[in-house]
Amino acid sequence: MSATIISGTEVAKAIREELKTEVADLKEKHAVVPGLVTILVGEDPASQSYVSAKNKTAHALGIHSEQITLPADTSEQDLLATVEKYNKDKNIHGILVQLPLPKHINETNVLYAIDPDKDVDGFHPVNVGKMVLGEECFLPCTPHGILELLSRSGVETSGAEVVVIGRSNIVGKPIANLMLQKRKAGNATITLCHTRTKDMAAHCKRADIIIAAVGVPKMVTADMVKDGVVVIDVGVNRIGKTADGKAILAGDVDFDAVKEKASYITPVPGGVGPMTITMLMKNTVQAAKQIAGVK
Ligand code: NAP
Repeated sequence: MSATIISGTEVAKAIREELKTEVADLKEKHAVVPGLVTILVGEDPASQSYVSAKNKTAHALGIHSEQITLPADTSEQDLLATVEKYNKDKNIHGILVQLPLPKHINETNVLYAIDPDKDVDGFHPVNVGKMVLGEECFLPCTPHGILELLSRSGVETSGAEVVVIGRSNIVGKPIANLMLQKRKAGNATITLCHTRTKDMAAHCKRADIIIAAVGVPKMVTADMVKDGVVVIDVGVNRIGKTADGKAILAGDVDFDAVKEKASYITPVPGGVGPMTITMLMKNTVQAAKQIAGVK
């Protein structure tokens, strides 16, 4: 039997509608307009398109957004000064520095410079620490989106065997941590796999839920999964181009074959991707409420 497709596009649309109402209420009842600044250094085309999608989404929801583009040779000091300017700006509640940064800039120094109260990407150590402790904080956007996809699709995570493949700081580690916590879309038993894992297929085969965040196209194959598995595919891999030059994308999962065994599966594109930007908007609205003292 073919799996139910979890449409991130549809779930994201529903959350964006909720946010639109929340933003309108904030304006009307509290005279607060959530503000987001995106800071891009250089001209990487993928980063440019991510940043412009973020600003477009913000506008559509009524969030004030500013898009700052700095030249590729901007010094670390100048970038830190830009971050500090927005740390102090009362109209800005969320600061996003688009990664990766040019090699001559120390990413850690820049991420640590963002006011944790405006850290809507959830990458500052204060927020990472709070997340691990299970305290209220800004959750990193992609893992946050995965939690929403699971809970809004009615997937039972409590007691489930979850295998996460990939241990990046932005996806693998945080989603593994969040799903073991006593929370919605949590209470799972977690196995975290990476390049040193000895028998990936054996771990995957006993998983009730597989979350793949690897960056290797179609790495998870049908023979590695059990019947009824829930699959969340985070991978975005460019595997070719169409005749008119558009990128052909594939996830980390062999979608066509695995969907015949899975109970639920996310597609690529249209799965986790649309959720990441949406959760950035959610974090920005949360930041505005917290800074303005609105419950
Ligand atoms: P990353 O920093 O690129 O790291 C990849 C992880 O996968 C590493 O932990 C690596 O293990 C592991 N890995 C790589 N090859 C492996 C293999 N053959 N077997 C087992 N493990 C392997 O990861 P990321 O930034 O989380 O990105 C992962 C994918 O998700 C990429 O395709 C990225 O484009 C996509 N992504 C999508 C979104 C979205 O919004 N849809 C957001 C973020 C990322 P080691 O640690 O041992 O090297």
